[in-house]
Amino acid sequence: MTESLPIATLEPVIGLEVHAELLTRSKMFCGCAVVDVTSAAPNSSVCEICTGMPGTLPVINRRAVEFAIRVALALDCEIAETSIFARKNYFYPDLPKGYQISQYEDPLAQHGCLMIRTGEGEEPIRIRRVHLEEDTGKLFHFDSHSLIDYNRSGVPLLEIVTEPDLASVEEVKSFATHLRSILRYLDVNSGDMEKGVIRFEANVSVRPPGSDDLHTRTEIKNLNSFRIMVRAVSYEVERQSKLIAEGQQVRQETLGWDEKAGITIAQRSKEEAHDYRYFPEPDLPALVVHSNWIEEIRSTLPELPHQKHLRYIEEIGLSDYAAGVIAAERSIAEFFEASIQINPNLSPEKLANWISTDLFSILNDSSLDLDQSSLTPKAMSDLVQLVDQGEVSASSAKVVLEELFLRGGDPLSLVHEGGLMIIKDRSQIKAMVEKVVAEHPAQVQDYLDGKSPLYQYLVGQVMRAAGGRADPAIVQQVLSDFLAKLADQ
Ligand code: ADP
Ligand code: MG
Ligand code: ZN
Repeated sequence: MTESLPIATLEPVIGLEVHAELLTRSKMFCGCAVVDVTSAAPNSSVCEICTGMPGTLPVINRRAVEFAIRVALALDCEIAETSIFARKNYFYPDLPKGYQISQYEDPLAQHGCLMIRTGEGEEPIRIRRVHLEEDTGKLFHFDSHSLIDYNRSGVPLLEIVTEPDLASVEEVKSFATHLRSILRYLDVNSGDMEKGVIRFEANVSVRPPGSDDLHTRTEIKNLNSFRIMVRAVSYEVERQSKLIAEGQQVRQETLGWDEKAGITIAQRSKEEAHDYRYFPEPDLPALVVHSNWIEEIRSTLPELPHQKHLRYIEEIGLSDYAAGVIAAERSIAEFFEASIQINPNLSPEKLANWISTDLFSILNDSSLDLDQSSLTPKAMSDLVQLVDQGEVSASSAKVVLEELFLRGGDPLSLVHEGGLMIIKDRSQIKAMVEKVVAEHPAQVQDYLDGKSPLYQYLVGQVMRAAGGRADPAIVQQVLSDFLAKLADQ
């Protein structure tokens, strides 16, 4: 591993460890409510169990197990009939018991797979394991002291670990977004990364392309946004590649990401690694899940983003891109599907385009989600149909769409009320043509003398006189007829 190689010849090898909080009503082993730790009063949802008082007994939350099984099934895992909770021992103030209840040698699920989309098509990423554990409390550090909020202590946490199958930063991002999308589809996690409900750690190494060996890796902790993950992994791949190119060795260590400096920083080396002294949790029975329960849960799984994506391409004829952006969010996908039912003659591709461009930009600028807005699938579909039939211009329709989003209503009435209908009436257009011709005698004369580019200028003037709302094809016909008559005179 000491041979030196040019940087460009090394390829990244990346494995992810993902922690996702489960959106159950109560915590993993007690009856305390799971609350939003960014807004609830500190330590307002705690009891003797989740603060680790001696003499208390944990009880497994059935809902958390069900949610974990939903995820395991969506990731195509084998689910163990019997899995074992274990104590992971370490000392830290956010962990009042002095151990975390987790799963170690016998996890709930193993050997799964998640397909990701890359520039070259689809790629399977193997899932090594999915297991249940409990979250820790949250520390807040100040100059002279630190404070602890135990609201998060004991919140059900799912750990998802991949095999080292990710071969680029793009693949890491694609995997992370797809996994987040699945967790949201399954209603087991809100996906609010800024609230820390999904957290990533990346294991990174590099190797010569074509090689199957795994080289020494580093582990970057606490990557709490996609942006930070991409920056940190890119930096780390480059840092390791340089080291090897210079004939040096990568040290196996745990790293943190310094956002300000834009570098990874060593936190502890392999020699300092924790020995967690795992042993089976004596206060809990083995977790036994019967196959009929698994099948029951399987039958309630929704169509997943990946399946929708493929169906949109194959059955509805969307482009790969449009299918991907519509399928990524369940609320958007369901809205799209309801919209295309309404006007069977309307092209789904056109609807998908309106949703993924104009509606997305309204959603981006708004604090509302689609479900909170007043826009209905029927209104969306009717509006796109009006544009399609040439009754309203695309730019007017955008204005109407905002109105529909904020206040609702019927697109056709809004178009009429706003005076936004396209003018198709020939006599109305003829009056505008006559006016424009009368007001531009010099340009008309030049046109008649053979300066043909002035034709477009005159079309522009008529469109302007119509406030952009005249049907352009009719304007051209009427204007051409009128000019032809003038030429004959
Ligand atoms: P630990 O539990 O000590 O963190 P594991 O061997 O279970 O270590 O691996 C954790 C993660 O690291 C997994 O996602 C795995 O795919 C990844 N990984 C293991 N070896 C490598 C390597 N050489 N390069 C990149 N990732 C790796
Ligand atoms: Mg690890
Ligand atoms: Zn509690």
